[in-house]
Parts: sequence; structure tokens; C-alpha cells
Amino acid sequence: MHKDTRCPCNSGETYSSCCGRYHQGFNDPEVPLWPGTAETLMRSRFSAFAANRPDYLLATWFQDTRPAELELDTDMVWRSLEIVNTEAGGPFDSTGVVEFIARYKQGKKTGAQHEVSSFVRANGRWYYLDAAD
Ligand SMILES: [Zn+2]
Repeated sequence: MHKDTRCPCNSGETYSSCCGRYHQGFNDPEVPLWPGTAETLMRSRFSAFAANRPDYLLATWFQDTRPAELELDTDMVWRSLEIVNTEAGGPFDSTGVVEFIARYKQGKKTGAQHEVSSFVRANGRWYYLDAAD
């Protein structure tokens, strides 16, 4: 994904100044860059689907629920993200919940995934846990 493209998460920022900096910097051996809130992590994970970055998705997945490997469906074009609601998930919380609607196109069909995701903070980093009930 080009750095000057509009960020897929609909923040209104460019990719490189929004989610792209986490995709670029999360595994920096000097100063790793990690989203500071559950919502920012959620946005950057949505953008990782859009930018085909399974490495980032696995790295930000909590170890207990993380799949061994992840192959993204390249048919799915993730088009927009709408954050519906957030609970906790701030820098001083240990858990967070983000409800969102992610819209995609697959071939000629469009669809939307409405999900309530749970996040946990471990060792100062937010991780995706699972889809909440
Ligand atoms: Zn973004």
C-alpha cells in the first residue's frame, strides 16, 4: 500500500501517518511502535487486512487465541471501517471492547462484518483477544 494513500481505517489521514506507521514499526528492534489504545489497535488490524499484512495480524493477536498461521483471502477487498462503540481500552485499562462494522467487496458482491472484539493489554501492549459474544 502506498504511503500517501488514504488510510483504509477511514481516519482521514494518510496510510503512512496512521496505521502504516504501526505496520512499519511494530517489530523495530530499536524502538518498536505499538498502538496505545484498543481502538487504535483495532484500526491498525483492519488496515492490515486491507494491506495484506498477516505478519502484523499475528503479532497483535494474543498468544492464547492466536492461530498458528494466517492466510488472508486476497479476494476480499476491505473498503471501510466504522467504529460503532468502544468500552475501556485506554492506556490505563487492562481490557477493552470495540464494536465495529467493516465493509468489504468480494468479486462483485459487497458485504459487511459487524463484530464486537475483545482486547487485552499485556506487558504494556494491546492485543486482539477474540470476538466477544
Ligand atoms: Zn488508519
